[in-house]
Amino acid sequence: MSNNTNIYRQIFELIQSYNTIILHRHIHPDPDALGAQGGLQRLIEANFPDKVVYTVGQIPENLEFLGVKTSDIRFGHYQQALVIVLDTANQARIDDQRYNLGEKIIKIDHHPATDPYGDVQWVEDHRSSTSEMIVQLSHELGNDFKMTKEAAELLYAGIVGDTGRFLYDSVDANTFYYAGQLQEAGVNTALIGRNLDQMPLKVAQLAGYVYSHVNINENGLAYVDLTNQLLRKFNVDSDESSMIVPLIGKIEEVKIWVIFVAQADGTFRCRIRSKEVTINHVAEQYRGGGHHLASGAKVHDLSEREALLESLNHLLENE
Ligand code: AMP
Repeated sequence: MSNNTNIYRQIFELIQSYNTIILHRHIHPDPDALGAQGGLQRLIEANFPDKVVYTVGQIPENLEFLGVKTSDIRFGHYQQALVIVLDTANQARIDDQRYNLGEKIIKIDHHPATDPYGDVQWVEDHRSSTSEMIVQLSHELGNDFKMTKEAAELLYAGIVGDTGRFLYDSVDANTFYYAGQLQEAGVNTALIGRNLDQMPLKVAQLAGYVYSHVNINENGLAYVDLTNQLLRKFNVDSDESSMIVPLIGKIEEVKIWVIFVAQADGTFRCRIRSKEVTINHVAEQYRGGGHHLASGAKVHDLSEREALLESLNHLLENE
């Protein structure tokens, strides 16, 4: 299925040669970051019962149902440990900066390679998700690294999360092939799909508000303000508000959209999405980055916010 054989063996041999393995992923984790992290943990534990595998980084309450835990480890644990960083393009966004203390570091990621790091890097930015890459790793290694139902559940959640349920253009034949393998491993795909798709009533009510107040201009640029006041009114926290992001894309007239999430320090986290026009180079100009059609950025004040919207509008004008 692939001509990348060396990288799988290289990663496998490193896993084989370390007794302690510590898995990191990005801050503000989504189901793909957690799915790849927890899925790889379960795979290593099942195939190498004598190894100790830790997963670190904070977990938002709304994704606790996935069952990935934060290991309580100290500096000493990193001595003679292999660190694998998943789904994280740049070092600044690695949750838990102790990753650097590992004896060897492997990067596995599907974002554009803006910040190469680690002793071994496996980066493919056309892949749907890092979870899909972990399924492939298992597939390519065959009997040496067999899939289990427990790992498959998390990896399937990761693929569903990062593809919006197989909706985005990063989905290809590999995605369906590996998702099929996960179903064969015993995953209840309907249950996981439902768990990731449903939202608490309070978030649905906030969605109702957002749908009636979204700003859309004549070029198809939309933005929504999730102010502290609004989040308080609906009792929705910043992590839970992530469910609002894909909803704006369901509006036919919208081509690019930004969700501004007000932060406690007065800055705005910007969650930028696009249906077809590449946006990550704009996100990079505002302390961010990401995928071609799904990026994040940070603006300091209202004038920077306007400038970001203007840059995005410009993309649509020049289409
Ligand atoms: P989000 O809107 O937080 O779901 O992020 C969408 C995509 O952009 C993800 O792939 C993130 O990894 C990436 N991203 C978000 N914020 C940043 C940032 N400040 N710097 C670089 N990449 C980011």
